[in-house]
Amino acid sequence: MDWKKQIKGLKAYQPGRTIDEVKEIYGLDKVVKLASNENPFGYSSLVDVFLRDSYLNHAIYPDGYAKNLRTKISSKLGVNLNQILLGNGSDEIIQMISRALLQPGKNTVMAIPTFPQYKHNATVEGAEVREVALNSKGEHRLDEMLEQIDNSTTVVWLCSPNNPTGTYITEKDIISFLDNVPEHVLVVLDEAYYEYVVADHYYDSLELLKIYPNLLVTRTFSKAYGLAGFRVGYAISSEEIISQLEPLREPFNNNSLGQGAAAVALQDQEFIAECRQNNKQGLERFYQFCDEEGLLYYPSQGNFILIDFGVNGDEVFQFLLSKGYIVRSGQALGFPTSVRVTIGSEEENKGVIEEMKNFIKEAKQEASL
Ligand SMILES: *Cc1c(COP(=O)(O)O)cnc(C)c1O
Repeated sequence: MDWKKQIKGLKAYQPGRTIDEVKEIYGLDKVVKLASNENPFGYSSLVDVFLRDSYLNHAIYPDGYAKNLRTKISSKLGVNLNQILLGNGSDEIIQMISRALLQPGKNTVMAIPTFPQYKHNATVEGAEVREVALNSKGEHRLDEMLEQIDNSTTVVWLCSPNNPTGTYITEKDIISFLDNVPEHVLVVLDEAYYEYVVADHYYDSLELLKIYPNLLVTRTFSKAYGLAGFRVGYAISSEEIISQLEPLREPFNNNSLGQGAAAVALQDQEFIAECRQNNKQGLERFYQFCDEEGLLYYPSQGNFILIDFGVNGDEVFQFLLSKGYIVRSGQALGFPTSVRVTIGSEEENKGVIEEMKNFIKEAKQEASL
């Protein structure tokens, strides 16, 4: 078969080990997954009520326009219905944007390391990928990214807070960046962790949308809202941009249950505020641990932290796995001596930190032998 040459050797997404697999391999009763930045507190109880009491007819296609959910997002954010694009997770939004704007002869600019789906989709479309290394603080180097933009650039990807570093872009920096990006370039601002942000100088992306018509913001119900299993994400942009992307959306890309669950979850901002607060406290616990042990880390605005253990991240990963904690090795994330850990519940954080201490102790003992 005559496959596109750019998909030659492309690897399928490698899902981490499941909780059940780890239980079986290591003979453990309890396994905690802190690998995919899912919400350790689950989701709003309103979602359970919806799932129990909804009488959806599953023989009928979902509402392709997702009118109810769309209306709820529109009134919560104060944007028009036609400024919203719904996706099967924000992953699908990234795919639609890539399909619409990337092709051979065009290029796209992004940070490295950042969320891998930008590059993956750009590669599938045959566009040239221009990656700009993060600075030593794990932040986007926006000036260098600007320099990479030329007449053939169609999309620039910003991830703030950035996965996997947790770092964010300040208001001052993003404004000066947007002021200088040519109008023919779509700037995608991925705010998958928006709900967790507590930083002082964080910009208001919805205000920025009013000023910069070539800006598109993506958000998701997978992280703080705790609905990763339902696959609902969305983009907000100018009506012109959304109207170009909307025809690329599959007709029924969000299923009925996902639409309903997301719509009720949006109503429970108390739950989100609690999660944000718990996350902040959890992060502080990790900072304290890192400071005590002299480990390097990036202060994070997400629900995860990247910690540098100064040894192969796979070793730390394996050790924690054998103790019942699934984290992500930095090997696959562009930080080979780090691991990325999702902030869990108080008990989970305490448990994984305890095992990290044990890892360090054992490594020291081995070194002194
Ligand atoms: C998790 C994540 C996403 C994808 O989220 P879905 O809505 O579940 O597809 C997008 N961007 C970043 C930065 C993420 O970490």
